Amino acid sequence: MTTTMMNVTTTHIRRTPAANELAFGEDLEASLARLRGLQAAEGIPSYETRIHRLKRLKSALLVRKHEIAAAVSRDFGHRSRHESLMAEVFFTLRAIDYTISHLHGWMKVRRRPVSWLFPMGRACVAYQPLGVVGIISPWNYPVHLALAPLATAIAAGNRVMLKPSELTPTTSRLLEELLMEALGPEVASVITGGPATGAAFARLPFDHLFFTGSTRVARLILRDAAEHLTPATLELGGKSPAIIGKDFPSEKAAGRIMTGKLFNAGQTCLAPDHALVPAGRMGEFVAACCQAVAAMYPSLTGNDDYTSIINDDHYRRLESYVADARARGADVIEINPQAEAPDRVGRKFFPTLIANATPEMLVMKEEIFGPILPIMSYASLSEAIAFVNANPRPLALYYFGYDGRDIDEVINSTMSGGVTINETCLHAALDDLPFGGVGPSGMGEYHAFEGFETFSKKRAIFRQGPI
Ligand code: NAD
Repeated sequence: MTTTMMNVTTTHIRRTPAANELAFGEDLEASLARLRGLQAAEGIPSYETRIHRLKRLKSALLVRKHEIAAAVSRDFGHRSRHESLMAEVFFTLRAIDYTISHLHGWMKVRRRPVSWLFPMGRACVAYQPLGVVGIISPWNYPVHLALAPLATAIAAGNRVMLKPSELTPTTSRLLEELLMEALGPEVASVITGGPATGAAFARLPFDHLFFTGSTRVARLILRDAAEHLTPATLELGGKSPAIIGKDFPSEKAAGRIMTGKLFNAGQTCLAPDHALVPAGRMGEFVAACCQAVAAMYPSLTGNDDYTSIINDDHYRRLESYVADARARGADVIEINPQAEAPDRVGRKFFPTLIANATPEMLVMKEEIFGPILPIMSYASLSEAIAFVNANPRPLALYYFGYDGRDIDEVINSTMSGGVTINETCLHAALDDLPFGGVGPSGMGEYHAFEGFETFSKKRAIFRQGPI
């Protein structure tokens, strides 16, 4: 391994925990300057160095997997241990493993045929590190959404500064320990704090900024990043529709949609946000959703597998969505198989269906990010597609159906970050496919080779022949 050591500590990053904000300013800049100096001294890290760093990260995750699950659980009030181990540890390990097994091929210089104008010349494209990458991550998958892009940035030969969410402070501290153990301050640094720290972070002259979070904050980040023309990748949210085709059974669609919806209690960027069902099948679909939930979660408040809502503000926001839908005449079905008392203290929000939803309801306008599923009827597939196209472009689009022409029509006449047929959410866990939104749901991609490209400079190299 060819790392250049400098006399560095993390203690110079001062914190003011009471305000949950970093005493930023010089320290942020000093951290960036330090990493930039180390990057310049090291040059382009070798394949072996990058693999070594990724393997250390993987080992640290494996060794501390139960601590990670416990930290996330604490930050959420309650987080399903099963979901934490799967999404935070297993998916992250898989992403790192995928990168390790493909890195050699990704790093290859690619020859390109040259134009007839330069018959003696040779051309190629080389993938080189960008330098120091800034990563701002959200609370909903606080480990995975910090470490998956971080690992790809490291694989591409960069150094990284991470600003995790202030809403998951226990996990953020653990992330810092984990990164210092695995990579050390000579490769990464962690800056903790909330929106003001985030804004100062986004104004730093990074070589690339990778942001996962809300569309609202993304607009602020782009404005701040403009000062240094910092290129940015934005992984955002939105309202991902699930269309149930006329030839697909309600029970199967309901089971898959509720599984995607209720993972992490709906606090997932690409969870199906709302469902569109063929006219005449509303009652059947609602009954199927209730059955699916009862089978998945026999008890909700006492069930360790059902995750809490992150904080009281978000809990109240979800309540206000339901109240608004009720006031506007929707049929609200709170799924509570054991007739348990609401668990406001543990912030467990019962899965809630909003049957006969209409476009003017808040649940059909704003990203829900919780276990509420509004359901609307449609008369024809083209009407459902027109509805999807009348709304901002989503991160994910789910279609349930067997007819090949209908599937083609859905894929070809809509636009979204990704399309999943007959399943929900799983493409997030597929390391082989690029992941990213479009328009208000995101800009740029990560995962797979496209992710490696995001964190690399594609250099065009031309060498004139002997003439
Ligand atoms: P958020 O935008 O409120 O915060 C995300 C991060 O940005 C946090 O670290 C926060 O401290 C920081 N931040 C806040 N204000 C900032 C500012 N002015 N400048 C710089 N940074 C600032 O989002 P959140 O509530 O943590 O996460 C939920 C949102 O993230 C949802 O909209 C969800 O859909 C989206 N999300 C998207 C993906 C994806 O991969 N596309 C994944 C998970 C979550």
